[in-house]
Amino acid sequence: MKTIRIRTTDPADERLKEAGALLRRGGLVAIPTETVYGLAANAFDEAAVRGIFRAKGRPADNPLIVHISDIAQWAPLVTAIPERAKLLAERFWPGPLTMILPKSDLIGKVVSGGLATVAVRFPSHPIARAVIDAAGVPLAAPSANTSGRPSPTNASDVLEDLGGKIDAVVDAGPCSVGVESTVLSLCGETPRLLRPGGVTPEMLREVLGELEIDPAVYENLREGAVAASPGMKYKHYAPRAKVVLLKGSFAQFCAYVAAHAEEGTFALCFAEEAAALPVPTVIYGSTNDSATQAQHIFEALREVDRRGAKRVFARLPARDGLGLAVFNRLVRAAAFQILTLEEDE
Ligand code: AMP
Ligand code: MG
Repeated sequence: MKTIRIRTTDPADERLKEAGALLRRGGLVAIPTETVYGLAANAFDEAAVRGIFRAKGRPADNPLIVHISDIAQWAPLVTAIPERAKLLAERFWPGPLTMILPKSDLIGKVVSGGLATVAVRFPSHPIARAVIDAAGVPLAAPSANTSGRPSPTNASDVLEDLGGKIDAVVDAGPCSVGVESTVLSLCGETPRLLRPGGVTPEMLREVLGELEIDPAVYENLREGAVAASPGMKYKHYAPRAKVVLLKGSFAQFCAYVAAHAEEGTFALCFAEEAAALPVPTVIYGSTNDSATQAQHIFEALREVDRRGAKRVFARLPARDGLGLAVFNRLVRAAAFQILTLEEDE
């Protein structure tokens, strides 16, 4: 299969209508969103949705997020919309928030990964919305990467993983947020954050008051534990190189890297720091700037592989606000390896 690349930033581009028609016919089309690129299929077409799992090599029990372009498309997908969900939608939609509620019969078990719930998001990206409008149906769309690899934040990354396996990619340039949406479950008594993203815990608490943070956001699930969000239990975002996060000051980081540098050792650090390091560097954003760190973290993890790194020492990001999402992705890329540097290391 040859994957068509449709380059456009114009939501009125006629070729987006063709992309919509392709999706209605059961095709797979990668689309830009404000978070990362998604691999879309008609959420009501089980055969098409199976194609997503096949192209990505995604485990069948890992459910997909359903994307809408009009708030009216939400109610038919779920059994009911509680008041707090409506408040969140008013405040954060369209935008990088995914809400999980009990599913209606319209959502099949392929999309829900066999769960009784469905995750729904209304993206803000004008091209994503134009494609959903053109398809005329909600679109199931996980990140458009091969399962386990860093999520794609531009069309070339999509093609690197899925070129030849999908019908088309709509290329609208790099994504503005850079990490996937915040995933929030509203199925229990207390709202529960399953995956941190562009809408931060602080922002959610402003609307909700109470919010639980699933332990899987910070830690590795114990053997045999049931994941609230199945995606959290898989090895994720991992480059081929071994990544270790180093906790400590920049001076400690430099000293540790210098003492442990070998052939193929790289440092994953902030822009202002690169010049001071004794090994090749890959940059992810600026110091104390979670927004730029989020924008660049996935591209940086791919870069590590392209440059053939064997071992990567990474700077620990701040964990407040959007930084929690950056930390969550990076700690998975590092298979939860965090090394605390001592004062006199
Ligand atoms: P991705 O599509 O790559 O952004 O991943 C979607 C994330 O949302 C994965 O971690 C899924 O496990 C999670 N997810 C999707 N639907 C549900 C659901 N119904 N219940 C819990 N987690 C979900
Ligand atoms: Mg993903």
